[in-house]
Amino acid sequence: MLPEPIKNLIDRLSQLPGMGQRSATRLAFHLLNQPAQKVLELAQAIKDLPEKTKICRNCFNLTGEAGKCLICSNEKRQPNIICAVEDVLDIIPIERTRQFNGVYHILGGLISPAEGMTPDKLRVRELAERIKKLKNQFPALNQIEIILAFNPTTEGDTTALYLEKILSPLSIKITKLNRGLSTGSDLEYADETTLVNALKFRH
Ligand SMILES: [Zn+2]
Repeated sequence: MLPEPIKNLIDRLSQLPGMGQRSATRLAFHLLNQPAQKVLELAQAIKDLPEKTKICRNCFNLTGEAGKCLICSNEKRQPNIICAVEDVLDIIPIERTRQFNGVYHILGGLISPAEGMTPDKLRVRELAERIKKLKNQFPALNQIEIILAFNPTTEGDTTALYLEKILSPLSIKITKLNRGLSTGSDLEYADETTLVNALKFRH
C-alpha cells in the first residue's frame, strides 16, 4: 500500500535498536514532511559515519583521522596510566569528570563464556604488547598503572580477574575503581561525583 521508498525506509529504521514498526513508520513520515535539505544533511551524516570514523591504533578509541586518537596524541596526558574499559562509550563519563589524565585501552567487550566472549576475542594481547613496549620508557617497578574500570557485573569481575592474572608477571601496578560508593551502577550511567570518587579512591 505504501510507496516503495517509504516501505524501504521503514524497514531499515525498524531494524535499529529500540525502534519498533510503529515508531519506524512515524519517523519515516516525519522525515517525509521535513525540508529536503534537512533530510539530505541527515543522510550525509549517516553516510560519513563509517567513511570518516577510524580506530586509534594505540587504544582502539574512535578517531576522525588515521593513526592515534586525540587522547593518545595529547602530550599532556600520561601514557603510563592506562584505564582499561569495556567499550568506547565508557570513556565519555570518565572524560567528563576531567579528573583522569591518563590514557585508555578499549577491550572491545567483557569475558562471557555463555555468550561466546572468550579472552581471545578481546584486545588482551594488544594490551599486554602495549605494556611491554611502555616498559622500555618506564622501566621502574610500578611506574605503569592499569586501572580496571569495568561494570560491577559477573562479566566485569571475571574480566578483571583474568587481566590481573595475565598482567601480574609484568610487574606493573593494577588497580580497580572504588565501588564501595556505587555498587551496581554502570559506568555509562554513573553520576560525576560517584565517578570522581571511584577514580580518586581506586585501589
Ligand atoms: Zn587512542
